[in-house]
Amino acid sequence: MEQLALKDPKVIEERKEFISTKGAQKQQVKCDEDSVAGSISQRACVFCGARVVLNPITDAIHLVHGPIGCASYTWDIRGSLTSGSNHYRNSFSTDMKEKDVIFGGEKKLAIVIDELVEKYKPKLIFVYSTCIVGVIGDDLEAVCKKQAQKYNIEIIPVQSSGFIGNKSAGYRAACDALLRLIAPAPQEQLTNNGETSQPKEVKKKSKTINYLGDFNLAAEAWIIKNYLKEIGVEINVTFTGDSDYVSLKKAPEASLNIIQCAGSMTYLAKKMEEIYDIPFIHISFLGIEDTKESIRKIARFFNDPEIEQKAEQLIARELKTIESQLDWYKQKLQGTKAAIYVGGGFKAISLLKQFKELGVEVVMVGTQTGRKEEYQTISELATEGTVILDDANPTELEQFMTEKGADLLVGGVKERPLAYKLGLAFIDHNHDRKHPLSGFVGAVNFAKEVYSTVCSPVWKYV
Ligand code: SF4
Repeated sequence: MEQLALKDPKVIEERKEFISTKGAQKQQVKCDEDSVAGSISQRACVFCGARVVLNPITDAIHLVHGPIGCASYTWDIRGSLTSGSNHYRNSFSTDMKEKDVIFGGEKKLAIVIDELVEKYKPKLIFVYSTCIVGVIGDDLEAVCKKQAQKYNIEIIPVQSSGFIGNKSAGYRAACDALLRLIAPAPQEQLTNNGETSQPKEVKKKSKTINYLGDFNLAAEAWIIKNYLKEIGVEINVTFTGDSDYVSLKKAPEASLNIIQCAGSMTYLAKKMEEIYDIPFIHISFLGIEDTKESIRKIARFFNDPEIEQKAEQLIARELKTIESQLDWYKQKLQGTKAAIYVGGGFKAISLLKQFKELGVEVVMVGTQTGRKEEYQTISELATEGTVILDDANPTELEQFMTEKGADLLVGGVKERPLAYKLGLAFIDHNHDRKHPLSGFVGAVNFAKEVYSTVCSPVWKYV
């Protein structure tokens, strides 16, 4: 099977099915699989996947049971903002040493929990399992249960040993932990795979939604909260940006779940539909087209003419404010070629649309954890000749960006050095950014960032 149309591809044989060129192959790229051994995947480990989802819960203590490296690697991993506690910005670790590995780390874990409770008096502690804990078999469940009973607080184990799968397994471990947290039933009736016993009746709040998969990077969740408030819809809680113990406990009261980051949150939404009878819809607030469509989709769900009218008024007003600014950037960016390599499929899809709005050609697009249906949409949106790839390694990214003549890479913290070494402009669309890229204001910020980096005079000196 010939998968690649590019000349002299330096691609590992087993990786070829994960890469295709729009127009050159009929079959879709393979995805949602474990990384190929020997390919230096850009993906993070299972533990990291779990931590990025849970870390924005502001008043939780995030305790990493493992060697210090796992905790320092994920310290303050998201640029999530808080309107309350700052506990989440710390990284606590049991700092396992050789002796703990040989004799077991359960006693040390219990002592660390004692110290944390004494010092911070938390309502909620997440205890993350790491590789070595999975190997030696410390019983996190038992230690957490005992300590939770001792202090009458919630201590939830997150089964996220780094080797038990890929980053998506970490998302699922985080969602299982969230399901335990929001369950009104007693903790001991809940299992770690998200299965629950009969929950008690939950009283629903009308026109109130949970916003799943926004981590309040650079205050993005607050922007969307204001849009929805303006049209008469209230956000009950965001999973997990700027959430806390009390707000998450109220999650079952919402009448709708909206999902932005589908890769990390679809499992949770399906479980919540099953357990709490909360329907869900997929939305995205990245780019004008998706922001408009998402506001309309939410308004339509409530089937209320007043909400729909307010939604149209908001869209018209915001478009009027930003149109001329976007036209200016569009003119400046004519002829630019962009490459996209991001975590989830929803973001890649929104970015493809956003670049189209700006008149920028996308020559390569890939994700770490995109799903089959997302790659289907990516393939439909991509233009002929665009390289589409899943779970890429740096060699592939370098090769395809160079061959396709990309001027710009949109990626995360791990892709930044690669772009700069190649002399390419770069946009951080991941954890570390300081400017919101959501909503109408985010669309302008994005265009401004593309312009600032692509048109920077520094590239003349490369
Ligand atoms: S959990 Fe395993 S793979 Fe992840 S950071 Fe720790 S040691 Fe590394």
